[in-house]
This record gives sequence, C-alpha cells and structure tokens, in this order.
Amino acid sequence: MTITLRFAAVGLAAGMLVLGAGTAEAAPAAAAAPSESVWIADVTTVTDQATAYLQQRLANPGRNAIVLDIDNTSLETYYHPQWTTPATPPVLELAKLAKADGAAVFFVTDRTELIRSVTADNLTDVGYPVDGLSMRPLFNFDPAQVNKTKARAAIEAQGYTIVANIGNNTTDLDGGHAERTFKLPDYNGALS
Ligand SMILES: [Mg+2]
Repeated sequence: MTITLRFAAVGLAAGMLVLGAGTAEAAPAAAAAPSESVWIADVTTVTDQATAYLQQRLANPGRNAIVLDIDNTSLETYYHPQWTTPATPPVLELAKLAKADGAAVFFVTDRTELIRSVTADNLTDVGYPVDGLSMRPLFNFDPAQVNKTKARAAIEAQGYTIVANIGNNTTDLDGGHAERTFKLPDYNGALS
C-alpha cells in the first residue's frame, strides 16, 4: 500500500514536472494585452504619425480614400466587447480628419457579411463616416489577407487612391494597394 502510494506520488510529481515544462515553454509565446490606457497611448503614437502624413498628403486634391480595419483598430473590441462597441478615440479623430480633408473612409474587415447591419450601425452610431464596408463573403474561407487585399483592389477599381491603410494586424496591411500602411499594436496576437 505504502509502496503503491509512493509510486503514485512519484508519478504525480513527474506529471507536474512535464506540465511545468510545457507551461514554461508556452510562456514566451503567450500574448498578453496591456491596460486600456497603455493601448490607447500606443495607438496614439501611430495615429499621430498617420495624421501628420494625411494632412500633407490630402492637401493634394483627388479621389482619395483611407482604409480602416474594424476590430481593435476602429472599435475597442478587446477592451469593450459590447453590442455597440465604442470607437477607438484617436482612430475616430483620424477618420474624421481624413473625411474633412476630402478622403472617403472605407472599412475592410474579416467580420462575416452575416453581421453587416449590426457592424454598419455600430460604426455610424459611434460617429464614423462610412463610405464603404467590405466584409468576408458568405461561404468564403480564404485567408483574411487575401480577402482584404481584394477589397482594397475593388476600392481602387472604383477610382479611389488609397492613401493610407490602417490596421492592427499584418493581414490588414500586407498585399499592397495602399500608398502607406500604419500598423497599430496587436501585442503578438493578443488583439485580433
Ligand atoms: Mg483588427
């Protein structure tokens, strides 16, 4: 009896060691989001650069447009996952400035078409000018980057020049079809 228990204890200890090792290995890859105030400060660092660029770029009149990602870019999805998610203040400010300077404001998201009306209402309810909203088509399983790149090409096909594309994920930004890209933080995937 005693021996069995000892073996059980050793087995348990060994198991814990294995678990411990697994946890230790996973730790560096685990993504953690900072506090909301730190996030907003990090976002503002980037939107300040985008604002300075847009003020200069939009001085040249034309059929200009900016493209915005939605989740954790235009809306505070991670920090306020509510039915009507609040706008990210510095991004809303940027969108309004771009609109006032003559640019169209397009949203390109990986959200499904199934929630188009909820998404469009959310954007307008929190104050965004919305000139277009591109979403993942129904029954489409392509990578997000493929769909988003196609969406920007379609905006260009309408005669727009996309002067800036702003998102928090590389899949929002890779693939071209924008004069400049601005990467907001995603903290190694903690913010989708
Ligand atoms: Mg996003």
